[in-house]
Amino acid sequence: MRKKIVAGNWKMNNDLGATNTLISELIKKEKTTNVEVIIAPTFVNLLEASKQLKDSSIKVAAQNMHFANHGAYTGEISATMLKSVGVNTVILGHSERREFFSEDDNLLKQKVDKALNEDMQIIFCFGEKWEDRSIENHFMVVENQIKNALFHLKNENWKSIVLAYEPVWAIGTGQTASPEQAQEMHSFIRNLVKENYNSTISEDVSILYGGSVKPENAKEIFGKNDVDGGLIGGAALNADNFMAIVNAL
Ligand code: PEP
Repeated sequence: MRKKIVAGNWKMNNDLGATNTLISELIKKEKTTNVEVIIAPTFVNLLEASKQLKDSSIKVAAQNMHFANHGAYTGEISATMLKSVGVNTVILGHSERREFFSEDDNLLKQKVDKALNEDMQIIFCFGEKWEDRSIENHFMVVENQIKNALFHLKNENWKSIVLAYEPVWAIGTGQTASPEQAQEMHSFIRNLVKENYNSTISEDVSILYGGSVKPENAKEIFGKNDVDGGLIGGAALNADNFMAIVNAL
């Protein structure tokens, strides 16, 4: 049975004080639901977030990681470092990493393999740019992003993978994909996994939608059959908005 998940990507927002405040607010609003709630604060606040959420069902994720264990990679963070501060989930392939830090499929494949070797859960992001969709190339772009970074995996690896479809034109723009556009792509992705693996894996993998999800539009998007939750950016920075999105699932 696939899980329902709402994950908040805080990006480069919230210093230590703001992190503490937002987490305290989330804990106060926390409800026991069957939705897995994840937050991804910035690296320097992961330890504090883990400590604060020790007795909570809210999980902490990193926004990125390096593929090596340790070594001469100035400014980078390894999987073992993340695990040592209680973080067992990592977001990989976010469009901002792809765009501003030139992360390509080959690099992401190495990061995926490393995270799996370390028994981490991966939220793997992908999605087309507007220029791709405008020429009806969006299915091919998404297929290649998934295929190049994930389709070498073994069947058993898929229990650690969460897919996150995030059309780049919808991220931080206020312009969401329509629920029908999201469903169309999620169903395409599920079918792709089925064709390359099997129907058990494709039915079990959670596929999140990301791109300007707000309390006002969450219910409609989450109502679609193949949408198993959301990856939330801007709206995750406010406890009321984030929990309203969680409760819409
Ligand atoms: C994101 O960056 O993953 C995202 C979905 O951002 P926003 O919700 O702000 O569009």
